[in-house]
Amino acid sequence: MKNHIVVEKPEKCCGCGACANACVLGAIEMKEDEAGFIYPSVNEEKCVLCGKCVDVCVFTDKNKGANAEPEVYAAASKNREILEQSSSGGIFSEIANAVLERGGAVFGAAWTDDLTLAHFCVEDKSELYKLRGSKYVQSNTGDAFRRAKKILDDGRQVCYCATPCQISGLKSYLGRDYDGLLCVDLVCHGVPSMKMLRDDLEYVCSDKYSEIRDVRFRDKRYGWGVKGSVSIGDSKIKYNAGNSPYYFYFLKGELYRESCYNCRFPSEGRQGDITLGDYWGVRGELVAGMGGADPDLGISCVLVNTEKGKRMLSLIEKNVAIAVSDRKSAEKRNHQLTSPSVPLPEHKTLLNGYINNGYSAFRQGYKMHLKDHVVRTVKNMIPSGIKRKINDFLN
Ligand SMILES: Cc1cc2nc3c(=O)[nH]c(=O)nc-3n(C[C@H](O)[C@H](O)[C@H](O)COP(=O)(O)OP(=O)(O)OC[C@H]3O[C@@H](n4cnc5c(N)ncnc54)[C@H](O)[C@@H]3O)c2cc1C
Ligand code: SF4
Ligand code: SF4
Ligand code: SF4
Repeated sequence: MKNHIVVEKPEKCCGCGACANACVLGAIEMKEDEAGFIYPSVNEEKCVLCGKCVDVCVFTDKNKGANAEPEVYAAASKNREILEQSSSGGIFSEIANAVLERGGAVFGAAWTDDLTLAHFCVEDKSELYKLRGSKYVQSNTGDAFRRAKKILDDGRQVCYCATPCQISGLKSYLGRDYDGLLCVDLVCHGVPSMKMLRDDLEYVCSDKYSEIRDVRFRDKRYGWGVKGSVSIGDSKIKYNAGNSPYYFYFLKGELYRESCYNCRFPSEGRQGDITLGDYWGVRGELVAGMGGADPDLGISCVLVNTEKGKRMLSLIEKNVAIAVSDRKSAEKRNHQLTSPSVPLPEHKTLLNGYINNGYSAFRQGYKMHLKDHVVRTVKNMIPSGIKRKINDFLN
């Protein structure tokens, strides 16, 4: 007899939701654990032990990624508005526009009305702004895989942009390739839980949580970097490692779910037809070859992994400033392309502190690390042009 999904160890579940999407009886609900990470929970009364959820799990299938030798580019949208609203070089939006112009649908992560991150389907360009920008928290897949399948079965195109484990879950759920499906995965270092983020926003925005309209982890008004903002009513406050314990620990890599520290995707080939990341540290000849692209507005690292990916690139090429690069240069400043994040020894203490004592555990540790942060902030105050010159001199 078959069994239903059982998560034996937390590192063996990335929360992709493929199992919940696969269960047609609705016997699986994705539920938060004590730290807020989502895992499948099976309702034994509804379950008929068909085993479908086990079959689609990304930890039990053989869903290897594509192309260990992708084409690699540095690229940025030529459209300033797109660049300003995107975290990196705005290549996601250029791809999304190309798909929408051909009558397709685009899936990506957006905030719900009650400020939870979930995957949504956009079918009109006017809605695309909701998906733009990196949100540094786990997005809940909900029933997005089912919705994507329905659109594909109707013969339309779908662009699905997500973390590598979510793309793997989607492919596993679909069970076969579709000509109309273009998968875009992100270079990914890991995700904290929505519960942690909620607690942090309550702290940072004090009694104004219910008035939050938007959270941007990367606000280009502060340049191309890791500084964000929270919109409360008509005003905006800064949101970064200087005022948010969550953001601080996120950048240190201490708040991710266990599967992220054991992520198999950096070493198993890419899951997307195209992979997008930040081309941190890009400069010199590469930028000069991009015909006026401005590194202060963001430049993407683009890996083109499949023939479908190549076809998409040729569709958007006229809209982007682009230069050929290579995998080695791209990996130099982006370790997530080769190996998963490594948990610091403090990770377990911080996590257990949060589980036992709640958000105060983040606040206490954060104070202790404030000195580190002040040093980093002072470094960040050096204008980027001067920083580049120092780097050029040192390298
Ligand atoms: C959790 C996370 C970790 C990342 N880590 C790295 C890294 O270590 N190194 C690196 O180079 N790049 C990383 N990135 C990718 C990078 O931040 C940019 O998203 C990417 O370069 C695309 O930028 P863009 O300007 O083309 O598109 P953007 O407009 O910034 O859009 C990005 C796309 O990502 C989707 N997205 C946003 N948040 C999430 C989420 N939480 N889960 C799933 N999908 C999401 C959006 O729906 C949109 O489709 C990460 C992104 C995320 C979300
Ligand atoms: S075994 Fe079948 S019925 Fe039971 S939870 Fe899994 S998919 Fe649903
Ligand atoms: S399919 Fe995804 S959410 Fe379900 S158990 Fe496997 S990894 Fe976890
Ligand atoms: S690090 Fe790996 S497991 Fe974690 S969200 Fe990213 S792709 Fe998924």
